[in-house]
Amino acid sequence: MIENLDETHDPARRSFVEAANDADSDFPIQNLPVGVFSNTADSALRVGVAIGNHVLDLKKVSLASERFAEPVRNALQESSLNALFALGRSAIRDTRRIIGDMLDHGSSGNQVRRHAADLLTPMEECTFHVPTKVANYTDFYAGIYHARAAGALLTPEDPLPANYKWIPIGYHGRASSVQVGPGGVRRPLGQRPPAASGAVPSFGPCERLDFELEMGFYLATGNRLGRPIPINEASDEIVGFSLLNDWSARDIQRWEMYPLGPFLSKSFATSVSPWVVITDALAPFRTAALSRPEGDPRPLDYLFDVADQAGGGLDVHLRVLLSTEKMRSTDERAIEILTSNAKYLYWTPAQMVAHHTINGCNLQPGDLIGTGTISGPSSAELSSMLEFTGAGLNPITLANGERRGFLQDGDEITFRGRCSRQGFASIGFGSCVGRIESADLSIARANH
Ligand code: MN
Repeated sequence: MIENLDETHDPARRSFVEAANDADSDFPIQNLPVGVFSNTADSALRVGVAIGNHVLDLKKVSLASERFAEPVRNALQESSLNALFALGRSAIRDTRRIIGDMLDHGSSGNQVRRHAADLLTPMEECTFHVPTKVANYTDFYAGIYHARAAGALLTPEDPLPANYKWIPIGYHGRASSVQVGPGGVRRPLGQRPPAASGAVPSFGPCERLDFELEMGFYLATGNRLGRPIPINEASDEIVGFSLLNDWSARDIQRWEMYPLGPFLSKSFATSVSPWVVITDALAPFRTAALSRPEGDPRPLDYLFDVADQAGGGLDVHLRVLLSTEKMRSTDERAIEILTSNAKYLYWTPAQMVAHHTINGCNLQPGDLIGTGTISGPSSAELSSMLEFTGAGLNPITLANGERRGFLQDGDEITFRGRCSRQGFASIGFGSCVGRIESADLSIARANH
């Protein structure tokens, strides 16, 4: 049984924004994700909603309508989503419902339809920005198929750590380098591992640049320092989901990560998709937590909740596309290199929140959490280059003859995510895009 359904999920609902009614649109009226945008007519950052191929300006809409409660209207004047998210999931649920009414095909009399030309901007005229001012970013490691496959390559003696099935493993990431594509992912410089034990590490541009296919989620109100969020309340703290690319410099990572974990191999860039798909929109696409094989431990009580086990997972079909500079120069389309699904996560998002706060650590509105790389059980579902090329030993050959073991300069990686279920309108996440720029070698040269 699917819970928390209302008129916003009605598959028969149509919008007067025609492109939203295309069956393959990521942004039908049943979705209504929020983001931050600017456009050529107005360079100020402001909050918007995706509908079809347009963005609805929520700053203008909220000033023109009486329907938003005052705290919501105030939050919608901001240049980021933190203030809206801080109001909590019920305020966001109301906001999504009001916007759905305004964009409904039957809403002939309302201001949005009458002033559509002023309130709706074609997406191609918009620039998108990081949805929140991310104060804190944490990246988990909840994809067990990735943990096994990557572990076998990075630490063959200990592929799946003994704590894996007990603890949602995570590390504190870097918030300042979270970005929305397509530009800006510069190949990092750093120390690369010595060729032999006891030898000297080399210095230079990363030679094993990689992506990690993940989902991200954003926090609502959060918690006070010293007050953990119980597992049965944790899903109420998750406002919405996006796509997330945890760019990884594998050579730098292998050399630096013992004993304190990844540092410079991750902090140079994290890309997110511009749209935050509100948790309520995902209600039809919830699924059970990954069923633990016989012999795996039951999670400790603070990580176990019956409702979370029954419906705390997410069924999101994920795709990774690659476009190289050469492909773009000959007008070749990006090619799909792998697919996966968020349902393969070993730990649910609620378990990640409960675990993150169990020591009293305070999460804040707009904080970003990455799930960890989501690989699946089959070889077509290995969700990083590290995994699907066997650490570069088995490069893939593209249609134009180019080969890739890891990413090269000019490569553009696009993630896409889509939810489908019989009897419901399909919704999507848009794209998470990043293009690799060549390393800045001026530092390396200055030191010679
Ligand atoms: Mn990661």
